[in-house]
Amino acid sequence: MKKNAQSIQQFVIVGGGTTGWIAAATLANIFKGTAVGITLVESAEIGIIGVGEATIPPFLATLHSLGLDEAEFIKATQGSFKLGIRFEDWHQRGEHYFHPFGSLGRSIDGHDFFQCWLKARAEGDTTPLMAHSPESVLSDHGKFFLPHKALGTALAGTHYALHLDATLVGQYLRAFAEKLGVVRVEGHVESVQQTDVGDITSVQLKDGRQIAGDFFVDCSGFRGLLIEQTLHTGYDDWSAYLPCNRAVTVQTKNVTAPTPYTTSTAKDSGWMWRIPLQHRTGNGYVFCDKFCSDEEATATLLASVEGELMTAPRVIPFVTGIRKQAWNRNCLALGLAQGFLEPLESTAIHLVSKTLALFVRMFPDRSYNPLLRNEFNRRVRADYEEIRDFLVLHYCTTQRSDTPFWRWCQTEMKIPPTLQQKLDFFRAAGGLIPGTEELFQPTSWYAVFNGMGQEPAAYNPTLDALDYSKLAMSMQRGKDAILAAALKQPSHADFLAEYCQAPKI
Ligand SMILES: Cc1cc2nc3c(=O)[nH]c(=O)nc-3n(C[C@H](O)[C@H](O)[C@H](O)COP(=O)(O)OP(=O)(O)OC[C@H]3O[C@@H](n4cnc5c(N)ncnc54)[C@H](O)[C@@H]3O)c2cc1C
Repeated sequence: MKKNAQSIQQFVIVGGGTTGWIAAATLANIFKGTAVGITLVESAEIGIIGVGEATIPPFLATLHSLGLDEAEFIKATQGSFKLGIRFEDWHQRGEHYFHPFGSLGRSIDGHDFFQCWLKARAEGDTTPLMAHSPESVLSDHGKFFLPHKALGTALAGTHYALHLDATLVGQYLRAFAEKLGVVRVEGHVESVQQTDVGDITSVQLKDGRQIAGDFFVDCSGFRGLLIEQTLHTGYDDWSAYLPCNRAVTVQTKNVTAPTPYTTSTAKDSGWMWRIPLQHRTGNGYVFCDKFCSDEEATATLLASVEGELMTAPRVIPFVTGIRKQAWNRNCLALGLAQGFLEPLESTAIHLVSKTLALFVRMFPDRSYNPLLRNEFNRRVRADYEEIRDFLVLHYCTTQRSDTPFWRWCQTEMKIPPTLQQKLDFFRAAGGLIPGTEELFQPTSWYAVFNGMGQEPAAYNPTLDALDYSKLAMSMQRGKDAILAAALKQPSHADFLAEYCQAPKI
């Protein structure tokens, strides 16, 4: 096979938010030492969105694939650790549940652990499901450690992610990418040039400079400067499934040590996040403007946050949905330019990395074979649909009827058929319908089904063939081992101080 004479030689990335710099770092890392050029254009005048501070475990794989040192990265971004999400007041006011990142218990004699737990409950055992989750138990006790330091204990399989300062992440990745040869251009893109058939050839800045390339990566945020304003790709609006369309955000001073989890609290017309970093806390209220004005949402947020305000409240409008094609012609849209799903499960930064990994697997040459592009677009859409369904599950199973918003979620929210099928299947016998390459593994589905009060009609009858006393003992031992190991770990605050204390700012 001959070397491809049509290979892409010059990438132009428009946008220098978290997305633009992840794309630049990833491409620069792949092409280091080659003649392939990467230019990133960003405009300080426009700035970045500056939110997006909670991640999920695959983000660590992104850091590692770039060869970045985790502790250094956490220090530089004022990061903290995240074992999962604590959901408050979602099912009913006053109730809470935890969505952990790792696994739940261990299969017993080949039986799925969740089925064993259902059987135990039917026998009268009242142990909560989350007593079998290392992340949940660690979180309850405010503990953290690195799982590889607990090999041989019940905590060895613990999964974690990070909370990060979005602005500092961009700065860190920028330094990394520039070291690898990425050329950063400060400027405001004013026009885009195309061939007769529509492929993009260059972008022109306000000061007249023109930046030409073979392939363009649109990381320009919600505006979708290339993918939408230039290529008119179209957008599928998913507001009928997920009605929230605004967020108001504010940063506050820390009043307590950072928790090793994100908190999501259901409010009258949406929900509020709390993301603890080393130097401050990020807060935001995601709401729907059909049920709540900006002023009401701001008042709710300000009444709920702890600690002195460090920024003025800022309202961010958004439309939930996905660009009809993430890759159109010689342009790949990433991040907010590609689509938006509310940050309930902190999935946006992950989608940037996952889309990039998929793009690398289907890497085009300048013939831009539509077979690659179509399959790529199909898979990106499947990722969005999976996350969308999982998010809808959090809302449509609520038992809250104390406000018009929550009544709407119970009665009028559209449920995607793919989710309805999963709900029906679970309700029948506690089973799941897994797809291929899915982000959310069984633990995630069980955690939210259970936290939102979903009850299967029956457990798997083959469990009755087991000796129940042995099953109960095995479960008890597993649970005790998690608790005993968790209590021996340092507090999250002590671990941060010892392992990755960030400079005071
Ligand atoms: C309320 C909210 C909460 C969120 N929370 C999370 C979370 O917890 N976890 C998570 O993973 N994600 C979260 N996200 C998503 C996350 O914020 C984004 O995925 C992330 O910040 C990346 O944004 P971006 O880089 O795509 O866009 P932006 O940050 O908007 O960057 C756009 C870039 O394009 C440049 N640009 C635009 N137009 C031009 C032009 N004409 N010329 C030159 N440059 C231009 C801008 O200067 C900027 O550099 C959240 C999003 C919102 C709205």
